[in-house]
Amino acid sequence: MIQHPGNVFVVSAPSGAGKSTLAQRLVRSVPDLSFSTSFTTRQPRPGEVDGRDYFFVDDARFDAMVAEGGLVEWVQVYGHRYGTGRDWLTGVLASGRDVLLDIETTGALNLRKAIPDARMIFILPPSAAALEQRLRDRGKDSDEQIRVRMQYARHELELYHAYDYLILNDDLELAYKQLEGVVQATRASRARMEPVARKILEGF
Ligand code: ADP
Ligand code: 5GP
Repeated sequence: MIQHPGNVFVVSAPSGAGKSTLAQRLVRSVPDLSFSTSFTTRQPRPGEVDGRDYFFVDDARFDAMVAEGGLVEWVQVYGHRYGTGRDWLTGVLASGRDVLLDIETTGALNLRKAIPDARMIFILPPSAAALEQRLRDRGKDSDEQIRVRMQYARHELELYHAYDYLILNDDLELAYKQLEGVVQATRASRARMEPVARKILEGF
């Protein structure tokens, strides 16, 4: 179990639903919120930067991290492995900063075992057809990759009931407002604000 004063937000969605678009905007706009950069064995897509979008590593390095217990969770999807680094995550959370993780459903459910109070957010695409269109328009995956991602999308959607929030990403602005609203409301929750309230009370 990871002990932590910071809040953990997990965002999952079928590939193409818009979670990177939403997550990147969120960490740019909301102070004291850090994006958890995962490790992956897949190749960078055009425009992706090592250390920002992912830490791109080879199979041997990934194997070593798994063997050393260096990953809080990891999965194999779409023919590649993806995992969340333990050292960085525990360090940032211990410092009191909030963390946002963009991870798929199996990994998200495993992460919640280590961090039971993680806020789990699922981004819904408007429809199967809209999802496929977004994957095509993004222009970064081959036809075969899109076919595999659409198959896995159904499996991911079936797990929506394990999440605390379901955000429909049809109108991007509305989806973003809801996502930011979850973060701000969590920060204002009684569980989080109790120490502050107690301190204020002591001054009376
Ligand atoms: P994911 O990270 O979930 O795989 P992306 O954020 O890469 O998805 O989004 C997939 C594609 O859909 C991108 O081209 C993005 O610009 C587009 N997109 C995201 N949200 C919307 C939306 N609400 N309406 C239309 N297109 C969107
Ligand atoms: P992509 O190849 O499109 O960047 O990511 C594929 C899927 O892997 C996405 O659903 C993304 O959320 C997920 N993913 C990225 N990093 C991790 C991780 O560290 N752990 C898990 N479980 N999934 C991840």
